[in-house]
Amino acid sequence: MRYFGNHPMGVQNLLEALPGGIALIDDHGIIGDLNQRLADMTGYPLEELVGRDIQILVPPLQRDQHFMTRHGCAGDLSTPQILHDPNLAILCRDGSQLPVDFAFSRLSVDTQSWIVVEIRDNTTQRAAEEARIMAEGHVIEIEAAAAAALAQSEQRFRLAFEGNMAPMVFSDQDGLFLTVNDAFCRMSGRTQEELLGRDSKHFTYPEDIGVTEDVYRRIKSGEMDQDRYGKRFLHKNGRIVVAEVSICSARDESGAALYFISSVRDITEERALAAQLSYQALHDPLTGLANRALFDDRLDQARARVAREGKLGAVLLLDLDDFKGVNDAYGHLVGDQLLVTLANRFEQVTRSTDTLCRFGGDEFLYLAEGLASPAEAELIAERLLETLTEPFSFDQVRLEQRASVGIVVWDGESADNVELVQNADAAMYEAKRQGHGHVVTFTPDIGHEVVSRFALIKELRHALTCGELSMHYQPIIDLTTTRVVGFEALMRWQHPQRGWVPPDVFIPLAEQSDLILELGSFALGEAMAAASSWGASDAQADAPYVTVNLSARQFHDPGLVPMIEAELGRSGLEPDRLILEVTEGVALVDIVETMNVMEQLNRLKVGVALDDFGTGYSSLSYLAALNPRIIKIDQSFVRPKHDRERSDMLLEAIVTLGNKLNMTVLAEGIETSAQLERLHSLDCDLGQGFLWSPAVPAEETANMLGRLLDD
Ligand code: C2E
Ligand code: MG
Ligand code: MG
Repeated sequence: MRYFGNHPMGVQNLLEALPGGIALIDDHGIIGDLNQRLADMTGYPLEELVGRDIQILVPPLQRDQHFMTRHGCAGDLSTPQILHDPNLAILCRDGSQLPVDFAFSRLSVDTQSWIVVEIRDNTTQRAAEEARIMAEGHVIEIEAAAAAALAQSEQRFRLAFEGNMAPMVFSDQDGLFLTVNDAFCRMSGRTQEELLGRDSKHFTYPEDIGVTEDVYRRIKSGEMDQDRYGKRFLHKNGRIVVAEVSICSARDESGAALYFISSVRDITEERALAAQLSYQALHDPLTGLANRALFDDRLDQARARVAREGKLGAVLLLDLDDFKGVNDAYGHLVGDQLLVTLANRFEQVTRSTDTLCRFGGDEFLYLAEGLASPAEAELIAERLLETLTEPFSFDQVRLEQRASVGIVVWDGESADNVELVQNADAAMYEAKRQGHGHVVTFTPDIGHEVVSRFALIKELRHALTCGELSMHYQPIIDLTTTRVVGFEALMRWQHPQRGWVPPDVFIPLAEQSDLILELGSFALGEAMAAASSWGASDAQADAPYVTVNLSARQFHDPGLVPMIEAELGRSGLEPDRLILEVTEGVALVDIVETMNVMEQLNRLKVGVALDDFGTGYSSLSYLAALNPRIIKIDQSFVRPKHDRERSDMLLEAIVTLGNKLNMTVLAEGIETSAQLERLHSLDCDLGQGFLWSPAVPAEETANMLGRLLDD
């Protein structure tokens, strides 16, 4: 029953007029009366609350410390108190809680003292407040995090900038340096003071100022945000620093560039190395011409273009006719000079779209494109040969050289690179066969007829097993007695289709593989067997010896000495009737190893002759080291093609030298009696040459034994 239900002072009206929910409670906390608003707020029928403990409206968890307990009933409420606590709530009938504020005051009515509890729903306010607090908290959090992150990233950036190994620069909109790191200072050879506030163009290679300004301009205009470009800086000492610069800009909100950050990579050495390597990889070190790798690449491209655009392409292979002669007579230095001068002359007549290449040794390749007819290729060949008409002169040496040229012309449906070069090679051999200074264009017939060195090596392998190889013997004559004292064994190849193939062609081919070892043991076996059949022609004379040519590869083969021992045993030949011919190239491979083999041969009593003497690099030192039984003076001194006077002086010097060293001196390639006379007068011991006889089959040697071979 409501306490003020019918109160004469109209208290009930007063309760209803108040804005919040109102409850009047006594000092024990019992609700005496309440207004409808509080009943509505809590969901209770008004009547139900009257007479109940106010605790019914307190959420269970708050009951202990709730205002009712703490302040409620016993407190001094002479002045109204307002409780404003974000946690305050009342418990509604449905179990939900309603956020509220409280205001307490005392009211005395009819000597009865009441506590007036005014309860205000502040759900919306509280939500707004919470939102504000949350938002505030969040903002603060964000700002704090951002500030910390910024500080951290600034710190990191500073470290990354200052301590960076890569040179770095901050510059302003006008390109003036704001900050530079130590690495940049080092790269430019300048201090911070010398750099700051200055424009990069002061340290830029003059030709690259334009590039630098262009990049700045384009970034500033917003055309791009960042760029990477190559430029050259100038070190304080004048050195050029080749660099790769990565540049980006920092912009304000409107997008205007505030400043630029550049990171620089010094690529000077990298560039130099790369350039050097790629140059070395693609050029011949002596002449500076394209090498085979570069030529191959150009040929690929040319073939693709000819296939696409029509017209004709051509490969010309040019080979000097007497390069070996020059090398032999004047040494390799003059030979090299000749090649360099030749390359220059050829280059002068090489069209800019064509490629000239040193193919190796004294061979040059010329690649031409866009030809209208094969005749044009022949014109190119003539142009190249014309450059040889003027003699070459180096110091006191005057040389004439001719060359042979093989041409292969191709169209869109060409063969591959290897086949084109092989065909040019075949044509060149045909040109050589026709005589010096010829030009031959490849035809399929030539392909069948002419020896292509590429095919030859395969056939040589076959030749050894099927009896196409044999040894011929050229007599060695005592120039005083004109008796045959020995024979040089020379290999011969009778090819079923090609006829005689000269050893100058197939021996170098065999030397490129182990095939030379097989040829070598064949030569030794045959020669020793032949020599063991040669008896002494009369009581005074010794039986003739045999000399066998060995290539450097054979000489250094560990199987050589055991093989010779075995062959000596098999043939029964006295070891001192075997003489091995080697060139100085043998010692060049490995002098210690050479001495070792020489010692073993000495022990066996097998002799050594130094072949082609006078054509090697450092004849005297190797002559002393090898200490051969015989030195064979090269034919180029006996039959000089160039500079006869000088050759004759050398001839005399070599004979005298050999005699002084107690070596037997043999002159090769004697063709005329005049040559013989001269050598005889110089005190040369032995001779060999067409004057007496070329190399003959083993069967014919018997006729020469015991005969005096005079002209
Ligand atoms: P080489 O050892 O200097 O042989 C001398 C060359 O001169 C031989 O050529 C011989 O036929 C030639 N000849 C001799 N007298 C005269 C002459 O009066 N006038 C001219 N114009 N030439 C003369 P060949 O037989 O063609 O041999 C060439 C080279 O091939 C040899 O030069 C030698 O280095 C090599 N060779 C030949 N047979 C063998 C072999 O069985 N093994 C090795 N490793 N090399 C060999
Ligand atoms: Mg020889
Ligand atoms: Mg020789």
